[in-house]
Amino acid sequence: MYRLTGNGILSSIEQKWERLRILKTEIWHLKKVEPERDIIKRAAQIIKDGNLVAFPTETVYGLGANGLDSEAVKKIFEAKGRPNDNPLILHIANLKDVFYLASIVPLKAQVLMEEFWPGPLTLVFSKSKFIPEEITCGLETVAIRMPKHQVALALIREAGVPIAAPSANRSGYPSPTEADHVYNDLHGLIDVILDAGPTGLGLESTVLDISGEVPTILRPGGVTIEQLIPLIGHVEYDAGLHHSSEAPKAPGMKYTHYSPRAAVILLDGEPEQVASKLKDMVEDYTLKGSKVGLLLTNEIYQKVKDISTTYMINIGNRQDLPKIAQSIYKELRNCDLAGVDIILTETYHEEGLGTAIMNRLLKSAGYKVISC
Ligand code: AMP
Ligand code: MG
Repeated sequence: MYRLTGNGILSSIEQKWERLRILKTEIWHLKKVEPERDIIKRAAQIIKDGNLVAFPTETVYGLGANGLDSEAVKKIFEAKGRPNDNPLILHIANLKDVFYLASIVPLKAQVLMEEFWPGPLTLVFSKSKFIPEEITCGLETVAIRMPKHQVALALIREAGVPIAAPSANRSGYPSPTEADHVYNDLHGLIDVILDAGPTGLGLESTVLDISGEVPTILRPGGVTIEQLIPLIGHVEYDAGLHHSSEAPKAPGMKYTHYSPRAAVILLDGEPEQVASKLKDMVEDYTLKGSKVGLLLTNEIYQKVKDISTTYMINIGNRQDLPKIAQSIYKELRNCDLAGVDIILTETYHEEGLGTAIMNRLLKSAGYKVISC
């Protein structure tokens, strides 16, 4: 059974989802630096009571629950609609907690923790006996990180437990970089959202498996391979990260992900060719009655800014990868809000932060790339 909305078709699954929204989600505003103690205390109590709090980190907003409480962790999966074979990251605020949660902490991991924690690096360890089954979804390993955000750290410390926190979006949708994004996806399904403004990095952490012989990147993110190698030597990318027949080692990487409702297509090539192809495609889609959104770097934007289309945004200079990383999820969501059917955007060099940006864009596009 389908219901038509202004934005297209709402499936029966989505209608069912709407009926599950029974909580009254509150948004509590607080400062990023020196967050108000009283608010943190109340939020920590919700976590201790086995319920859910969304909170900002330096990467994206997370959906937090007591990571040692199986029932609380199950609520994360329900609220997000997350597949139950996709394990969660535990967030800690004291480095020494790793020795309780992991059964082995290799020397290389200790070097990385010293350098990058708190920060956007998640390490996958052999798990200790204290980890609930629901966190790891049956794996023998556990993913842990220490976030670099005063609100996140204060919340974890006050709760006194590791906080399990995947991105606070509905599963499959772009991760939230603002409290409003969380509200749009999860209102009625969670108790509280702590709002401390937009997140810094805008993309998720790097997931590095340090439990085996060769440190392996399971998900590229805020800490780049170029930063890891000088400290620990050889690092590989998981073969399953490339669009190949290999199954990815991070279960989450096999799912459709980071995808807005609109279809995403990447255009690859020299600026002149990309601009010319864009103009043709916008004209073509518009004639067919489709609404097109364009997410463009300044270099291409300047060449096509006179064409008329439903939504067009200049996300900054091509070289300014931090700014592009920060805007991508938000702009994919804005395209949906503008009601577009198709989003056309560009490719990036897979170097530095460009590797994580391309990983997310390729997944959001279902690997649809047009060479120009
Ligand atoms: P998120 O849902 O954004 O928090 O992403 C967490 C990512 O870490 C997903 O891709 C998970 O599959 C991955 N992950 C979490 N725990 C493990 C683990 N023990 N082994 C491998 N990947 C993991
Ligand atoms: Mg996620």
